[in-house]
Amino acid sequence: MLVSAKEMLNKAKAGHYAVGQFNINNLEWTKAILQTAQEMNSPVILGVSEGAGKYMCGYKTIVGMVEGMIEGLGITVPVALHLDHGSYEGAMQCIEAGFSSVMFDGSHYPIDENIAKTKELVAICEEKGLSLEAEVGAIGGEEDGVIGEGECADPDECKMIADLGVTMLAAGIGNIHGKYPANWKGLSFETLDNIQKLTGAMPLVLHGGTGIPADMIKKAIDLGVSKINVNTECQLAFAAAVRKYVEDGKDLQGKGFDPRKLLAPGVEAIKATVREKIELFGSKDKA
Ligand SMILES: [Zn+2]
Repeated sequence: MLVSAKEMLNKAKAGHYAVGQFNINNLEWTKAILQTAQEMNSPVILGVSEGAGKYMCGYKTIVGMVEGMIEGLGITVPVALHLDHGSYEGAMQCIEAGFSSVMFDGSHYPIDENIAKTKELVAICEEKGLSLEAEVGAIGGEEDGVIGEGECADPDECKMIADLGVTMLAAGIGNIHGKYPANWKGLSFETLDNIQKLTGAMPLVLHGGTGIPADMIKKAIDLGVSKINVNTECQLAFAAAVRKYVEDGKDLQGKGFDPRKLLAPGVEAIKATVREKIELFGSKDKA
């Protein structure tokens, strides 16, 4: 059964660790992440962007696949199915389709409009027992066509949104989606510390987890980050492993062309990445 992310994130905040959100793209991705979370006895959040939602033929298809897989694989660790960077309409569609958690990204709206729309979703999610993530201050880089500048959020605006009753809050602290450029200045721990002081027990979310050095991740967790989003890193690992299989000519040997064989090295690479992140975030054995 899918669960809201509320309990797992409140526990993480209190226990000074973070739960990973790993974005899914297809059956192989989903299976690899669920199996690894189970093996590590860790709670997990499956992230779905609106673009990935379209790719996988709609939110209902995804709910059916994930619920079926939880049953079929005998997954017992807490699993939240979460819309990543949702529009207001996208969030409503996911709630309707049976997601257990949604993000409403109103960071590109003026703060008053972000507050008004977030408030409406707080009421709906509360009624249905779903978790809701809000965002203040756009996160840099591009994710499915959504481009952010990598700004630092205003801590007072973060408090205004946190006070609406959202479950968790994503705030820009200099983080970027995708690969980090060589001249990246690093995370702004000063901003994070100020946000954390004003928002108290609210679990904070760090987007753009790919390529942030391990010591910065640990420090961010110390300063109140309880959810870390990983997307690009699984994609890079998957692509490199499948590329190697093909370059080694293994698809030309015997039945190496069988998609279950062709994609298997990619699946193993995702598992290794997820395993490494669960260790780093400290959520192993916290299911
Ligand atoms: Zn993000």
